[in-house]
Amino acid sequence: MSRLVVGRFAPSPTGRLHLGNLRSALVGWLDARAANGTFLLRIEDLDPDRSKPEHVDGIFEDLEFLGLGWDGEVLHQSRRAEVYRAALERLRAAGRVYECTCSRAEVARAASAPHVGEDGPLYPGTCRGGATPKPGRTPSLRFLVPPGVVSFVDQLHGAYSQDVEHAVGDFVVQRTDGVASYQLAVVVDDAASGVTQVLRGDDLLSSTPRQLMLLEALGLPAPTYAHVPLLLQPDGKRLAKRDGALTARGLRDRGVTAEAIIGQLAKWSGLGDGTPCKASELVAGFSLSKVRREPTVVHDAELDALVGR
Ligand code: GLU
Ligand code: ZN
Repeated sequence: MSRLVVGRFAPSPTGRLHLGNLRSALVGWLDARAANGTFLLRIEDLDPDRSKPEHVDGIFEDLEFLGLGWDGEVLHQSRRAEVYRAALERLRAAGRVYECTCSRAEVARAASAPHVGEDGPLYPGTCRGGATPKPGRTPSLRFLVPPGVVSFVDQLHGAYSQDVEHAVGDFVVQRTDGVASYQLAVVVDDAASGVTQVLRGDDLLSSTPRQLMLLEALGLPAPTYAHVPLLLQPDGKRLAKRDGALTARGLRDRGVTAEAIIGQLAKWSGLGDGTPCKASELVAGFSLSKVRREPTVVHDAELDALVGR
């Protein structure tokens, strides 16, 4: 018996959705819809300085414009502090977290140069044996990473392994401002919503072992993962960094239709020849196995053609 698929899109409202975000949204939406599953929307607005209400409205507007509808209630992480606190309490009670009073600069200094991991400097465990009280500084909470290698099979990348202790070190689960970290919130929310399939950009591939550790520590079920390769500029940098014309809003302002955007996103994903179409028209022929596994370089000529330049 196949289980009911529950997928989700979890954007951070720090700007308008750009082509990279939209591509993840489209593929995730197709993956859920092709399985007759549910597609959820979660607003990852934990960072009060960077999240803006107008961008939340922008996310709704852009997804509606592109015909990527979601099911049920939208979850806003900024309203779920109690849920995260309860999870953190369980980790604390189980002795899986500890307080850390190190500043960012101290962590950077303590990590010797060769130990700068994929996600910044490796935390060397300075406060493992107990944090030194520092007046006026609120501690963060770090997860006590168990030794060993975490492995999983990504549906697009294949086997992936990471020695979290040596690649990242004990990572933050509650920030000094008392807010849950992304790593903690994402696993708590995916589990609470019954998400079975996490599909997202592969900039988060290296976060997955940490998330699997947290799920295990909290006794929560692990979803399956599919990390879609990034859209890149010809210079190899992430497309995300480019100008406003590459947002759904910017393209729409230039008169580009939803069908043209969907057709192009599908092509970049290995799902068609770029012919304008509705997202719903792609459902029948969709299979995750058809999705490109290599990063896609987006050429200026394709963007020019999209905006009719
Ligand atoms: N909020 C994250 C982002 O905008 C995505 C988190 C996730 O999909 O797990 O990149
Ligand atoms: Zn510390």
